[in-house]
Amino acid sequence: MAYEYDNENIFARILRGEIPNDTVMESEYCLAFRDIQPQAPEHILVIPKGAYVNFDHFGAEASDAELVDFSRMVAKIAQAIGAAPGAGGQGYRLIANTGTHGVQDVPHFHMHLLGGRQLGRMLQT
Ligand code: AMP
Repeated sequence: MAYEYDNENIFARILRGEIPNDTVMESEYCLAFRDIQPQAPEHILVIPKGAYVNFDHFGAEASDAELVDFSRMVAKIAQAIGAAPGAGGQGYRLIANTGTHGVQDVPHFHMHLLGGRQLGRMLQT
């Protein structure tokens, strides 16, 4: 399976420090920052530092350490913003838009974490 990664995509530029970002959390393998056009009071993007185009690329080729680090960071952020139901929070939603049908704009794998209000039901169209 071949995945072509565009080194000039905006998240690659953020990772290289060429574009500023509002960092929420950083680890060895991941960065989380606030979405520039938030769709909810909490709208955070979690990305791996590695060059992965989308979730199937990440899931297939990332190391175990990268995969674990990513999941742990999502969980830590949900807790840090007070949204994790296991810690008394009201919940949140994770979205990974992928490819054309998934309407993915930025070709570097990212997970949207949305919360802070009651969200609508999934898939309007
Ligand atoms: P997607 O459609 O899933 O690829 O979403 C890309 C997301 O990246 C959108 O929600 C944008 O608002 C967000 N975005 C684009 N540029 C930036 C940036 N420079 N900093 C933070 N978020 C961004």
